[in-house]
Amino acid sequence: MRTIHINSAIQSYDIVIGEKLRHQIKDYLPKNYSSILVITDENVVYLYGNDLLQALKGNKVFLEVVPPGETSKSIQVYYQLLTKALEYSLDRQSLIIAFGGGVVGDLAGFVAATYMRGVDYIQVPTTILAHDSSVGGKVAINHEKGKNLIGSFYPPVQVLYDTETIQTLSLQDVRSGYAELLKEAMLANENFFTQLLSISLEQIAMKDLITALETGINIKATIVEQDEREAGIRKYLNLGHTLGHAIETRLGYGKISHGEAVAIGILFAMYVSQQELQVKLPLKQVKEWLTENNYPIALSFEQIDDLVEFMMHDKKVINSEIQMVLLKKIGEPVLHNINKQQIKKYLHSFIM
Ligand code: NAD
Ligand code: ZN
Repeated sequence: MRTIHINSAIQSYDIVIGEKLRHQIKDYLPKNYSSILVITDENVVYLYGNDLLQALKGNKVFLEVVPPGETSKSIQVYYQLLTKALEYSLDRQSLIIAFGGGVVGDLAGFVAATYMRGVDYIQVPTTILAHDSSVGGKVAINHEKGKNLIGSFYPPVQVLYDTETIQTLSLQDVRSGYAELLKEAMLANENFFTQLLSISLEQIAMKDLITALETGINIKATIVEQDEREAGIRKYLNLGHTLGHAIETRLGYGKISHGEAVAIGILFAMYVSQQELQVKLPLKQVKEWLTENNYPIALSFEQIDDLVEFMMHDKKVINSEIQMVLLKKIGEPVLHNINKQQIKKYLHSFIM
């Protein structure tokens, strides 16, 4: 078992990583709560719901199960959860537990951030991707005009990462989470990057995956500790996300996994870096690895106009210019503003 401590101005907390932690959750509750609302999705409740509920026995516990997938990060599902919380008479001494992947984490975290101006919540991530989403306190739901446009910075009181749960993930969800690991490696650690690309996802050993997860969490933790509210270096974590979010919105939420969309975004960021910064990056190598591991990386010319429009609704647009994260080299990100026409031109030549 390992513990990584996050020093946060809003709320410091521990990320505990280990096997079977879902069975031990009671030992990690930071205090006595008047009641607990567990928010999870249909897949996670089926696989691990009983374990968590058993472990919470003796507390006043309520359970809310949302449909799996990105469409649950909606204003409707959010509102239904608030209604349930009111019907269960949750008060300011209640706790919310987000038990699931990034969707449940972002959604339940936003419920916690806004219910009665904020109640405590614990993240119990169950996907690889959630190594990223459960750390750093960004919580949000989507708007039809764009991803994560309604949200807050609201750290959990605890993150309990039960690494046993990731064994049941589909290959698509492994691909999705692995893309965020690649992103972290590209921002901060060239050796980690090389190591990630030396592995084939079909054959990956669980212990290697868990080691990679811990490295990813450490990179993310180091960045968010320095810049919790994304005024500076935390922006680097958006590598691949400007286009990635536009792809998710354009295709329809849930049609492509978050990480798979980010993977295309990362390739595009590498391509734009080469053009704008006159640098040479291992673009070909990354593209080959993504193709070998069955990432859906094709975009079509008909999508370009819509993608550019969605990119212009991104939170990173300032004075009509898109602030993109580019790379001078692996391990050295920079922020770079690009206007709409230029982005369109680059997307065109990237797709060719
Ligand atoms: P997800 O929560 O939808 O999980 C993916 C799928 O895996 C779902 O069908 C889910 O039911 C299933 N699942 C979850 N745990 C499982 C398990 N242990 N075994 C089998 N199946 C399991 O999606 P995700 O990929 O975890 O997260 C994506 C979301 O995270 C996106 O909405 C993205 O915007 C968000 N995100 C947020 C941040 C942040 O900083 N807040 C960072 C990165 C991503
Ligand atoms: Zn992401």
